[in-house]
Amino acid sequence: MRCQCLVDFGEALRADEREPLVPNGTEVIVRIVAAGVCHSDLHIHEGGFDLGRGKRLSYKERGLKLPLILGHEPVGVIEAMGPGAGKLDTNCNYIVYPWTGCGECQHCSIGNEHYCAKPRAMGVHIDGAYATHMRVPHPRYLFDIGSIEPAHAAPLACSGLTAYSALKKVESTLKKTPVVIIGAGGLGLMAVQLAIAMGGLAPIVVDIDPKKRTAALAAGACAAIDSAADDAVAQIHAAAGTPPDAAIDFVGAEATAELGFNAVERAGTLVIVGLYGGAAPWALPLIPIKAINIRGTYTGSLNEFRELMAIAAQGIIPPLPTTTYPLEEAQAVLDRLKQGEVVGRAVLIP
Ligand SMILES: [Zn+2]
Ligand SMILES: [Zn+2]
Repeated sequence: MRCQCLVDFGEALRADEREPLVPNGTEVIVRIVAAGVCHSDLHIHEGGFDLGRGKRLSYKERGLKLPLILGHEPVGVIEAMGPGAGKLDTNCNYIVYPWTGCGECQHCSIGNEHYCAKPRAMGVHIDGAYATHMRVPHPRYLFDIGSIEPAHAAPLACSGLTAYSALKKVESTLKKTPVVIIGAGGLGLMAVQLAIAMGGLAPIVVDIDPKKRTAALAAGACAAIDSAADDAVAQIHAAAGTPPDAAIDFVGAEATAELGFNAVERAGTLVIVGLYGGAAPWALPLIPIKAINIRGTYTGSLNEFRELMAIAAQGIIPPLPTTTYPLEEAQAVLDRLKQGEVVGRAVLIP
């Protein structure tokens, strides 16, 4: 098999040729047909992210082992199955739920493997999809994508799931006031489409980049506001007709978290998704005075992924602008993502 391998944090990915994968037990070997490139791949590639106040989260200190094949948005076909994998249709394209855990702890036992303290996420802790082939521990992580184009389906495994899980956390507000989506990158655009597919009002999008604001309007946003504007909060309230009940920060920078905090109604909810980095920007007394709920979300559960794929199967999530690249250009794609030059999603095709 061929792969693009992270050998050292911050160094260019290396093209490797390896022995073919052999499945054991319940494992399934998937031949990759599309691998989405996610913003969090950049963080892993760089070895961590800024925690603010001079601190940094280091993947090395957290025990992430290299070499590692990145890629946690895989779509592929079944190439081989272990003796315990059961019967599987080898004619379909499957998307892989990559957020696997130890399978035994209190989180894993109730289906929240993405909260596991001993995570085994594909493309993050164990080898992922920047390759011709990938090992999947169990067929329960495979979902038939039906007639969806593999390159359009791939981003559902991370950006789609993350956006869906974030929206689920404010689901009761979606029909009442437009949700504010901060950051119109791949996740933000996906959230716009999903909020509408979930029966919500058309969201309000906030981004500094005019190209991304245009993309957000095309994706169905009711308004796209420049976050750099002095009156951004007033513009959000005007677009919603009232201070909205919920905002989702897909950037996770100090400025965006502050904007989201200021934009929502009292007793509203700010969900933080992005890992841009920094420290909390709010004055502590304002949190009780505003009675705001500030909550985090990280990827999503296997059950949420099942729900998301059922929505996707109805064909009501229009494909995002997607650009495909050969597997060998993985590093160049990461570089473009870092420069903010990717509108929509980038997908590698082995
Ligand atoms: Zn991701
Ligand atoms: Zn676990």
